[in-house]
Amino acid sequence: MSDADVVVIGSGIGGLVAGALLAYYGKRVIICESHGVPGGAAHGFTRRGFRFDTGPSFYCGLGDIDSLNPLCQVLKILGERVEAIAYDPLGHYHFPDGTLPIYCQSDRYQQALAQITPQGAKELQAFQKPLLQLYEALSQIPTIALRSDWKLLPILATRYLPALWQLLPHLGILNRSAGHILNRTVRDPWVRRLIDLECFLLSGLKADGTVAPEVAFMLGERDRSVVDYPLGGSEAIIQALIRGLTRWGGELKLGAHVEKISIEQGRVTGVQLRRKERLTAPIVISNATLWDTFTHLLSPEDLPSSYRQQQLSTPAVESFMHLHLGIRAEGLEGLTGHHVVVHSQEVDVTTPGNTCMISIPSVWDKSLAPEGHHCLHAYTLEPFARWSRDPEYADRKWVKSQPLYQAVERVIPDIRERIVLELVGTPLTHSHYLRRHRGTYGPAIAPGQGTWPSCHTPIPGLYRVGDSTLPGIGVPAVAASGILCANTLVPPQIVLESLNQFQ
Ligand SMILES: Cc1cc2nc3c(=O)[nH]c(=O)nc-3n(C[C@H](O)[C@H](O)[C@H](O)COP(=O)(O)OP(=O)(O)OC[C@H]3O[C@@H](n4cnc5c(N)ncnc54)[C@H](O)[C@@H]3O)c2cc1C
Repeated sequence: MSDADVVVIGSGIGGLVAGALLAYYGKRVIICESHGVPGGAAHGFTRRGFRFDTGPSFYCGLGDIDSLNPLCQVLKILGERVEAIAYDPLGHYHFPDGTLPIYCQSDRYQQALAQITPQGAKELQAFQKPLLQLYEALSQIPTIALRSDWKLLPILATRYLPALWQLLPHLGILNRSAGHILNRTVRDPWVRRLIDLECFLLSGLKADGTVAPEVAFMLGERDRSVVDYPLGGSEAIIQALIRGLTRWGGELKLGAHVEKISIEQGRVTGVQLRRKERLTAPIVISNATLWDTFTHLLSPEDLPSSYRQQQLSTPAVESFMHLHLGIRAEGLEGLTGHHVVVHSQEVDVTTPGNTCMISIPSVWDKSLAPEGHHCLHAYTLEPFARWSRDPEYADRKWVKSQPLYQAVERVIPDIRERIVLELVGTPLTHSHYLRRHRGTYGPAIAPGQGTWPSCHTPIPGLYRVGDSTLPGIGVPAVAASGILCANTLVPPQIVLESLNQFQ
């Protein structure tokens, strides 16, 4: 008898969703998390009474019971939910030549843009139209019904035939980039930059590197559902998934670093942890990045060399500089929670340091900071290659934190006088705490230049979830990857039964 039916390596949202759903389907699941804190890129941490997010803070539909967000669909199946506070506009984008509030409803978004560029607003509408239509067609097939093998076909044919018909007119853009639609619809440079920025925030790449369905889903969900923030911070989502996992009999082991995936006679037999501890299971799901999985967790001889080479040659988005600040809040009564600052229009939005994201979630949830204070997280891309713990580390850290400070000054001009707690994180910090290869945001796979791998691997019994698998980076996407993997590992009948309860 093995220790578990399934061992999951990593408690990122992808790993938690796959593990919790499989526990719900009746599998004995153990999730091994290397860190002492669960959640991976979405974990929270507390310093001196300030509760910070490590990564995500833009969410959609968390508090909406009918949300199409795959994460919410899983929570609903597990019998869990997250309290969330809705807000609008979802953020302010600050360019050198003006600030634009980004409203959720597409009409309102266009009206705000028309104040800056009336022609651009019309072009934005033309850009959004086919994407919103694609979203409408895609939204007829809930992610929770999907799987990553041929057994999907009978489900689609019997249950979702009308929805497939509705998708037919949109097949032309299904595999295209958002850049393809951008080039057909928008000439206004202001709007082109805006759309590139929106895509960059979503995928780490501009419009020509971001698949159209991903943008369709972002625009559609914003328009149809609500943009909201989880009360208690991102860690509230992680805690809800862990409650769901344990409620259905699954187990999470923290501080359980997996050193190797055990392979015997070509198939998976379990994992080896530190201190020679071993867990046996016929199925192992890796939530670690593709680079961590294929270099650290497996030996080169475990995989066909061409497959290994091809996977490891996947380009990666850079890592990050982070600023986590605890600040005094007096006089900041009108402050809003999300800001994106682009410093220079001569420099590409993807250039490290040029685009800075700022999140101040204590404007929505006061419990995240001591009374009279706010917690603030600012971050920007930064290449890992420049970093080592050499004698210049502290100086480099100071220099590289300055674009973040200058960005926050656009929103809170006297920020430096307000600080009561300052934490500066570098790509080394990011890769250490998130256990991610070179602290990467994830794979940079542009449409037409590669395909996102599915949950399958060439090793029987070994599967993968998370942002190095289909459909890609971001919380809804990694939750979808967890669903696709879990559903693939059980007979379609089990998925259909849970679907009947869910709908
Ligand atoms: C700064 C930042 C801001 C972001 N903002 C947003 C946002 O606003 N909205 C949004 O939707 N998305 C956002 N994202 C993206 C999103 O957070 C990620 O795509 C997603 O959380 C990744 O989840 P994952 O499950 O793929 O992997 P991860 O979260 O990386 O989880 C992998 C887990 O595996 C563990 N692990 C690795 N190796 C081992 C091992 N050997 N043994 C045991 N455990 C191991 C790690 O410790 C980690 O917990 C942001 C990301 C970052 C970094």
